[in-house]
Amino acid sequence: MLNATEHDVLIIGAGPSGSAAATILAGHGHRVLVLERDTFPRYRIGESLLPFTYEPLKRLGLIDQMRKSAFVKKYSVQFVSPNGRASQPFYFFNRYDRDTVAQTWQIRRAEFDVMNANNARARGADIRHGIEVKELLREGGRVVGVRTQDTDGEVVEHRARITLDCSGKEAFAAVRSQWRKKDPGLNKVAVWTYYKGAKRDEGIDAGATTVAMIPEKGWFWYIPQHDDMVSVGVVAEGKYLSR
Ligand SMILES: Cc1cc2nc3c(=O)[nH]c(=O)nc-3n(C[C@H](O)[C@H](O)[C@H](O)COP(=O)(O)OP(=O)(O)OC[C@H]3O[C@@H](n4cnc5c(N)ncnc54)[C@H](O)[C@@H]3O)c2cc1C
Repeated sequence: MLNATEHDVLIIGAGPSGSAAATILAGHGHRVLVLERDTFPRYRIGESLLPFTYEPLKRLGLIDQMRKSAFVKKYSVQFVSPNGRASQPFYFFNRYDRDTVAQTWQIRRAEFDVMNANNARARGADIRHGIEVKELLREGGRVVGVRTQDTDGEVVEHRARITLDCSGKEAFAAVRSQWRKKDPGLNKVAVWTYYKGAKRDEGIDAGATTVAMIPEKGWFWYIPQHDDMVSVGVVAEGKYLSR
């Protein structure tokens, strides 16, 4: 059976971009429906925030929750050269406002994305999980909504004046519109894992991101998280990693 709904805005995906858009739009009084394939909490990569995420987090009203969260505070980034020598930490407070932008966080996406989604709900957005967007609905050359399928196989048509594609790297609309073009210069692959009990610095350096360079090939990340976890990954050309 085919059901139908009508909203002002449809959003594909409840990652940070989908939930942020939902928070702002619902806050302006629009009827927002977010369609998310996964049930939360769910794993996702993308764990080290940059200093200037402070402003969007503030706009979303999330600074208090971030400050009270278990997320590790990040004050700096440190670089390790190929000979193994570590640079002095680059402390953000040497350049940016100490009380705001100069301190950010090392997050875990399972928790961060739940926080963002709940924030959007609190502003009035309707976020539904276990619903996969299968198709864009087009009429007269424009997108008028989406067709979804839930885990029980129920197919629904959702209609709205605006549909936002916040599906992340899957780029739902771009792929289906054949807008995605491969850039031959971007051949990097990332491989990562997590360690418990790994070494970390003390005090304000405990939350520093460390970046170790592999000359002309790529780089490693070392991101300390809460619960004594460290995220370690490497980004380099696929051919180099699999040689
Ligand atoms: C290896 C790696 C390391 C990274 N490290 C960092 C970092 O340290 N710091 C940082 O800031 N960023 C980092 N990023 C980038 C970060 O992961 C992304 O910028 C971020 O996840 C984008 O958020 P988003 O909301 O756009 O998409 P996503 O987080 O990917 O969320 C998209 C959501 O859409 C849902 N979805 C997709 N298709 C459908 C569909 N058809 N129907 C319904 N739902 C759908 C997915 O289930 C998902 O929940 C990293 C990325 C990679 C690949």
